[in-house]
Amino acid sequence: MDLFEYQGKQFFAAFDIPVSKGEAVTTVEDAVAAAERIGQYPVVVKAQVHTGGRGKAGGVKLANDLDEVREHATNILGLDIKGHIVKVIWIEVGSDIAEEYYASFTLDRSAKKHLGMLSAEGGVEIETVAEENPDAIAKIWIDPVDGLDEATARTWVEAAKLNPDAEDGAVDILLKLYRAYTEGDADLTEINPLILKPTGEVHALDAKVTLDGNAAYRHEWDEYELTQERDEREQAANEKGLQYVGLDGSVGIIANGAGLAMSTLDVVNQAGGSPANFLDIGGGANADVMAGALEVINNDAAVKSIFINIFGGITRGEEVANGILEALKRVTIDAPIVIRLDGTNAEEGRSILEPHLSDQLQMQSTMLEAARTAVQLAGES
Ligand code: GDP
Ligand code: MN
Repeated sequence: MDLFEYQGKQFFAAFDIPVSKGEAVTTVEDAVAAAERIGQYPVVVKAQVHTGGRGKAGGVKLANDLDEVREHATNILGLDIKGHIVKVIWIEVGSDIAEEYYASFTLDRSAKKHLGMLSAEGGVEIETVAEENPDAIAKIWIDPVDGLDEATARTWVEAAKLNPDAEDGAVDILLKLYRAYTEGDADLTEINPLILKPTGEVHALDAKVTLDGNAAYRHEWDEYELTQERDEREQAANEKGLQYVGLDGSVGIIANGAGLAMSTLDVVNQAGGSPANFLDIGGGANADVMAGALEVINNDAAVKSIFINIFGGITRGEEVANGILEALKRVTIDAPIVIRLDGTNAEEGRSILEPHLSDQLQMQSTMLEAARTAVQLAGES
């Protein structure tokens, strides 16, 4: 669950991390009123969207008086930042910046440890730093059982070569950020930039937080839930009770069982294609479920072919085949379909499908062949 910057700052503030005071608003008039309440200039007008690089896209502006607040708020509200339309802006008191750093915690699954990254080169995207100057990122791996202590944090700050003036402030914030990350049940806590002010204070100027949705029951996250941007396809699928995750590719995928659906994504990638979604229709591949799944996929304009990958277990092959045929009577599908049917009574299922095969409805006996065909039909190889 991704938080907007202003929510991330509230989250940080709850762990005592210094952030700038401000207000989230949705209209130009409220932006002006918020700036008046802040009462000192400059104020910063910041787009609230679930994507980075807002600064570059014109979504972060300093205003020196009320007219400029009005001007920037007008320009930023409604702005399209990488496909995200700005509906909320955050008005905060401007900060003087001496230096910009980067700090984050996330999980390194392969190391089975938390990964902390710290860099004296903040304010730019960390991916760029990682590419152009990887030595500028000081990394530490933290065993969750041991946690992070002050001495380790201090050594880490020294390794990142932050300005010595920032050392105490940075150590303090990193310890708090680690607490926010672990006790707050976050998958990511990132501050970019973490700033050193000319006065010597260290301060979080931006906040990127991803919370672990599985931990929601331990917290009061209702407000965060309300502002989640839901993928329209995901919403439609969830309403039909389908396990669906939207992706960026062109091969629509229907499989039964999460494991098989995951392997289907892999095999489509292996065949040189890119999946448009993950869709697990679960155990009962009946006509209703299949029709619902096909409908969701058919409504995705990016889908150029559909790969139905079913392994009959308790649900027998002939039921699956009848389910597919019945579903195809109910839904008119634009993209060509490739079916791979295996498992219990697969023979019977295939012979039921056989008379209905065409360019539009194809069948392959192996997962890899089916994936190759689907990828080809999608025009990807
Ligand atoms: P992002 O582009 O989405 O990461 O948005 P940020 O919140 O990180 O802001 C981008 C950049 O705007 C920062 O790196 C700063 O250089 C600048 N900026 C943001 N807030 C302030 C501020 O209060 N004062 C000054 N002088 N610059 C700011
Ligand atoms: Mn930033």
